[in-house]
Amino acid sequence: MNSPLPPRYAVYAGSFDPVTLGHVDIIERGARIFHHVYVGIGINPDKQTLFSVEERLDLIAQSISDHANVTVKAFEGLTVNFAAQHDAVVMLRGVRTLSDMEAEFTMSLANRALAPDIETMFLMASEKYSHISSSLIKQIARMGAEPNIERLRKFVPEPVIAPLLEKFGQSVPKS
Ligand code: ADP
Repeated sequence: MNSPLPPRYAVYAGSFDPVTLGHVDIIERGARIFHHVYVGIGINPDKQTLFSVEERLDLIAQSISDHANVTVKAFEGLTVNFAAQHDAVVMLRGVRTLSDMEAEFTMSLANRALAPDIETMFLMASEKYSHISSSLIKQIARMGAEPNIERLRKFVPEPVIAPLLEKFGQSVPKS
Protein backbone atom coordinates (compact mmCIF):
# COMPACT_ATOMS: atom_id res chain seq x y z
CA MET A 1 0.00 0.00 0.00
CA ASN A 2 1.34 3.45 -0.89
CA SER A 3 1.50 5.94 1.97
CA PRO A 4 -1.08 8.76 1.72
CA LEU A 5 -0.08 11.92 -0.16
CA PRO A 6 1.20 14.72 2.06
CA PRO A 7 -0.88 17.93 2.26
CA ARG A 8 -0.85 19.80 -1.03
CA TYR A 9 -0.32 23.56 -1.10
CA ALA A 10 -0.73 25.91 -4.06
CA VAL A 11 0.18 29.50 -4.76
CA TYR A 12 -1.92 31.82 -6.90
CA ALA A 13 0.11 34.88 -7.86
CA GLY A 14 -0.80 38.03 -9.73
CA SER A 15 -1.10 41.80 -9.57
CA PHE A 16 -4.74 41.86 -8.39
CA ASP A 17 -5.01 45.58 -9.17
CA PRO A 18 -7.81 45.28 -8.10
CA VAL A 19 -9.07 41.80 -7.29
CA THR A 20 -12.09 40.82 -9.44
CA LEU A 21 -14.81 38.19 -9.13
CA GLY A 22 -12.83 36.18 -11.71
CA HIS A 23 -9.86 36.08 -9.32
CA VAL A 24 -12.10 35.20 -6.35
CA ASP A 25 -13.62 32.36 -8.37
CA ILE A 26 -10.15 30.88 -9.02
CA ILE A 27 -9.18 31.29 -5.34
CA GLU A 28 -12.36 29.53 -4.17
CA ARG A 29 -12.00 26.71 -6.67
CA GLY A 30 -8.33 26.32 -5.71
CA ALA A 31 -9.28 26.22 -2.03
CA ARG A 32 -11.58 23.26 -2.78
CA ILE A 33 -8.74 21.33 -4.45
CA PHE A 34 -5.74 22.14 -2.24
CA HIS A 35 -5.21 21.97 1.49
CA HIS A 36 -4.05 25.56 1.44
CA VAL A 37 -3.86 28.33 -1.18
CA TYR A 38 -1.35 31.17 -0.76
CA VAL A 39 -2.51 34.15 -2.79
CA GLY A 40 0.60 36.14 -3.67
CA ILE A 41 0.60 39.78 -4.68
CA GLY A 42 3.70 40.16 -6.77
CA ILE A 43 5.50 43.42 -6.03
CA ASN A 44 6.93 44.80 -9.25
CA PRO A 45 8.60 48.20 -8.71
CA ASP A 46 8.61 48.82 -12.51
CA LYS A 47 4.84 48.45 -12.81
CA GLN A 48 2.59 51.33 -11.84
CA THR A 49 -0.50 50.20 -10.01
CA LEU A 50 -3.74 51.93 -9.04
CA PHE A 51 -3.80 50.37 -5.57
CA SER A 52 -0.85 50.10 -3.19
CA VAL A 53 0.31 46.67 -2.07
CA GLU A 54 -1.31 47.23 1.36
CA GLU A 55 -4.62 48.23 -0.24
CA ARG A 56 -4.58 45.17 -2.51
CA LEU A 57 -3.81 42.87 0.44
CA ASP A 58 -6.69 44.38 2.37
CA LEU A 59 -9.17 44.18 -0.52
CA ILE A 60 -8.41 40.52 -1.24
CA ALA A 61 -8.61 39.64 2.47
CA GLN A 62 -12.01 41.35 2.74
CA SER A 63 -13.26 39.62 -0.42
CA ILE A 64 -12.44 36.08 0.72
CA SER A 65 -12.93 36.45 4.46
CA ASP A 66 -14.74 33.13 5.01
CA HIS A 67 -12.02 30.83 3.66
CA ALA A 68 -9.92 29.28 6.43
CA ASN A 69 -7.44 27.65 4.05
CA VAL A 70 -6.49 30.79 2.10
CA THR A 71 -3.69 33.18 3.09
CA VAL A 72 -2.92 36.44 1.27
CA LYS A 73 0.64 37.73 1.17
CA ALA A 74 2.80 40.10 -0.83
CA PHE A 75 6.10 38.94 -2.28
CA GLU A 76 9.07 40.28 -4.18
CA GLY A 77 10.98 38.36 -6.79
CA LEU A 78 10.17 35.13 -8.56
CA THR A 79 6.88 33.33 -8.07
CA VAL A 80 8.74 29.99 -7.95
CA ASN A 81 10.63 31.26 -4.89
CA PHE A 82 7.38 32.38 -3.25
CA ALA A 83 6.02 28.88 -3.95
CA ALA A 84 9.11 27.14 -2.56
CA GLN A 85 8.99 29.28 0.61
CA HIS A 86 5.48 27.93 1.29
CA ASP A 87 6.20 24.32 0.30
CA ALA A 88 3.75 24.70 -2.57
CA VAL A 89 3.82 22.03 -5.25
CA VAL A 90 1.56 23.93 -7.64
CA MET A 91 1.37 27.41 -9.12
CA LEU A 92 -2.24 28.05 -10.01
CA ARG A 93 -3.20 30.22 -12.98
CA GLY A 94 -6.56 31.23 -14.42
CA VAL A 95 -6.96 31.28 -18.20
CA ARG A 96 -9.64 33.21 -20.01
CA THR A 97 -8.75 33.06 -23.68
CA LEU A 98 -6.42 31.34 -26.11
CA SER A 99 -4.20 34.41 -26.09
CA ASP A 100 -3.91 34.11 -22.28
CA MET A 101 -2.84 30.52 -22.86
CA GLU A 102 -0.07 31.48 -25.24
CA ALA A 103 1.61 33.76 -22.72
CA GLU A 104 0.94 31.34 -19.87
CA PHE A 105 2.49 28.46 -21.78
CA THR A 106 5.78 30.35 -22.24
CA MET A 107 5.80 31.41 -18.60
CA SER A 108 5.12 27.88 -17.37
CA LEU A 109 8.07 26.56 -19.39
CA ALA A 110 10.34 29.24 -17.93
CA ASN A 111 9.11 28.40 -14.43
CA ARG A 112 9.65 24.69 -15.01
CA ALA A 113 13.26 25.39 -16.02
CA LEU A 114 13.71 27.36 -12.78
CA ALA A 115 11.90 24.92 -10.50
CA PRO A 116 11.23 21.51 -12.10
CA ASP A 117 9.41 20.17 -9.01
CA ILE A 118 6.72 22.86 -9.01
CA GLU A 119 3.90 22.35 -11.51
CA THR A 120 1.82 25.08 -13.13
CA MET A 121 -1.88 24.20 -13.17
CA PHE A 122 -4.46 26.07 -15.21
CA LEU A 123 -8.08 26.51 -14.26
CA MET A 124 -10.38 27.64 -17.04
CA ALA A 125 -12.12 30.89 -16.12
CA SER A 126 -15.81 30.42 -15.40
CA GLU A 127 -17.94 31.45 -18.35
CA LYS A 128 -19.53 34.38 -16.52
CA TYR A 129 -16.12 35.85 -15.59
CA SER A 130 -14.09 35.00 -18.68
CA HIS A 131 -14.23 38.55 -20.09
CA ILE A 132 -13.28 40.27 -16.82
CA SER A 133 -9.88 41.81 -16.28
CA SER A 134 -8.57 44.33 -13.76
CA SER A 135 -7.92 46.78 -16.62
CA LEU A 136 -11.53 46.55 -17.85
CA ILE A 137 -12.72 47.23 -14.30
CA LYS A 138 -10.57 50.36 -14.12
CA GLN A 139 -11.89 51.61 -17.47
CA ILE A 140 -15.48 51.19 -16.30
CA ALA A 141 -14.83 52.89 -12.95
CA ARG A 142 -13.15 55.82 -14.71
CA MET A 143 -16.33 56.44 -16.71
CA GLY A 144 -18.29 57.25 -13.57
CA ALA A 145 -20.33 55.62 -10.85
CA GLU A 146 -23.90 56.57 -11.74
CA PRO A 147 -24.40 54.54 -14.96
CA ASN A 148 -21.89 51.82 -14.12
CA ILE A 149 -22.39 50.78 -10.53
CA GLU A 150 -24.54 47.73 -11.40
CA ARG A 151 -22.01 46.63 -14.00
CA LEU A 152 -19.20 46.93 -11.44
CA ARG A 153 -21.20 44.85 -8.97
CA LYS A 154 -21.21 42.00 -11.51
CA PHE A 155 -17.44 42.17 -11.91
CA VAL A 156 -15.82 42.97 -8.56
CA PRO A 157 -16.43 41.93 -4.92
CA GLU A 158 -18.51 44.44 -2.94
CA PRO A 159 -15.57 45.60 -0.71
CA VAL A 160 -13.74 46.78 -3.85
CA ILE A 161 -16.47 49.07 -5.19
CA ALA A 162 -16.18 52.16 -2.96
CA PRO A 163 -12.33 52.24 -2.84
CA LEU A 164 -12.23 51.77 -6.63
CA LEU A 165 -14.63 54.62 -7.35
CA GLU A 166 -12.76 56.78 -4.85
CA LYS A 167 -9.55 56.38 -6.88
CA PHE A 168 -11.33 58.14 -9.73
CA GLY A 169 -12.84 60.85 -7.56
CA GLN A 170 -16.25 59.15 -7.50
CA SER A 171 -18.46 57.79 -4.74
CA VAL A 172 -21.12 55.11 -4.53
CA PRO A 173 -24.45 56.71 -5.57
CA LYS A 174 -27.10 56.79 -2.82
CA SER A 175 -29.97 54.44 -3.71
P1 ADP B 1 -0.86 39.25 -13.81
O1 ADP B 1 -0.16 40.54 -13.59
O2 ADP B 1 -0.09 38.02 -13.38
O3 ADP B 1 -1.50 39.09 -15.17
P2 ADP B 1 -3.56 39.38 -12.76
O4 ADP B 1 -3.92 39.91 -11.43
O5 ADP B 1 -4.09 40.08 -13.94
O6 ADP B 1 -1.99 39.31 -12.72
O7 ADP B 1 -4.00 37.85 -12.87
C1 ADP B 1 -3.58 36.86 -11.99
C2 ADP B 1 -4.05 35.50 -12.49
O8 ADP B 1 -5.47 35.48 -12.55
C3 ADP B 1 -3.59 35.13 -13.90
O9 ADP B 1 -3.39 33.73 -13.95
C4 ADP B 1 -4.77 35.53 -14.76
O10 ADP B 1 -4.81 34.81 -15.97
C5 ADP B 1 -5.91 35.14 -13.85
N1 ADP B 1 -7.15 35.86 -14.14
C6 ADP B 1 -7.29 37.19 -14.35
N2 ADP B 1 -8.60 37.51 -14.56
C7 ADP B 1 -9.29 36.33 -14.49
C8 ADP B 1 -10.67 35.98 -14.66
N3 ADP B 1 -11.59 36.89 -14.95
N4 ADP B 1 -11.01 34.67 -14.53
C9 ADP B 1 -10.07 33.75 -14.25
N5 ADP B 1 -8.75 34.00 -14.09
C10 ADP B 1 -8.36 35.28 -14.21
